[in-house]
Amino acid sequence: MNLFDPELLDRCISCGFCLPACPTYALTGDEGSSPRGRITLMRALDTGVLPVDDPRIREEASFCLGCRACEPVCPAGVQYGQLLETWRDLTWTGRHRPVLARGLMTVAARTALLRLLGLVRRPARGPAGGPVSLMLGCFERGLFPGVSRAARALLPGVAVPAGQGCCGALHAHNGESAAGEEMARRLGEQLPGVVVTTSGGCAAHLATVLGRERVHELSEHLVATGPTPVGEVRVDGRRARVALQDSCHLRNGLGVAAQPRALIAAVAELVAVPGEASCCGAAGTYAMLRPRDSRRVLDPKLDAVEAAGVDYVVAVNPGCLRQLQTGLRRRGSRVRAVHLADLLVHAAGGRPLPRPRRRALRAG
Ligand code: SF4
Ligand code: SF4
Repeated sequence: MNLFDPELLDRCISCGFCLPACPTYALTGDEGSSPRGRITLMRALDTGVLPVDDPRIREEASFCLGCRACEPVCPAGVQYGQLLETWRDLTWTGRHRPVLARGLMTVAARTALLRLLGLVRRPARGPAGGPVSLMLGCFERGLFPGVSRAARALLPGVAVPAGQGCCGALHAHNGESAAGEEMARRLGEQLPGVVVTTSGGCAAHLATVLGRERVHELSEHLVATGPTPVGEVRVDGRRARVALQDSCHLRNGLGVAAQPRALIAAVAELVAVPGEASCCGAAGTYAMLRPRDSRRVLDPKLDAVEAAGVDYVVAVNPGCLRQLQTGLRRRGSRVRAVHLADLLVHAAGGRPLPRPRRRALRAG
């Protein structure tokens, strides 16, 4: 039937190298919840062996985090993220799209509403024009406007055009890939020159539409063009111990992993934590749509962060930041989650960071 691009679907050679990298396979041990198993389901859908309303087809399209950890380990170069977008285009149509996702997509598609959010929370603003533009992500505008201000402080002279729309990643990952592509294209027209974003997820989506050379996530932009970070982050009279939570799409989609680590190491003691490269369970709308599964993915990660004795865990994506902050607060952890932009600005003598608590309020 060619519901999927045959060139993409036929690339999988069923070797299974991707299974150990998949967080949902780690949870269930079930082949159907692995990348290879899901590609088998896509093939069954493509050939008409299973209908689109088959419960397993719908469940696995939803259970998948979309983290793309299966891509870098795949010897055949399967572009699983693109296959998943098509799969959700087919299965998350009309009433089958989760209500919450529908609501968020409606908000994100309305530029006027985004502008209102910006006005209420007063995000960073700057003169329009110039060779480098800062993208104000819609999630960030609503929840973390300080991150945009910090990014602007790190990028003197950056243009921050007002009235920016959404990049469309939300749509692309929730069953409306054509709309997601169109929104990215429109945003590209609004933002002159190189587009810098503080969101790994937005960067990966924008790069697929605007081209890799036009889109920079903040850490890669700073490492490529900026001066070495100045200052130091200190806690209790010593250099702060800081871990990184990778952004899945930034790491697995764009191959950016060394840059945020280099920036952290310049201003603090970088601490490697087991599992730091795997998904935190935020995964776009996943934490809201499947909170129980999201916590099953997150909890062992927070255990590892706490066991490592760090003061801060740094996120490079606002969704991950919210997920980590919520999880750490829930367990009364002493560890604080902050965005990389905030960490660097604080090191340079800017806005204070939340202080790590002296000890855990309660265990578990
Ligand atoms: S997706 Fe890649 S790694 Fe996984 S089974 Fe297919 S070819 Fe092998
Ligand atoms: S995107 Fe993530 S959760 Fe989905 S199949 Fe790939 S590794 Fe597993």
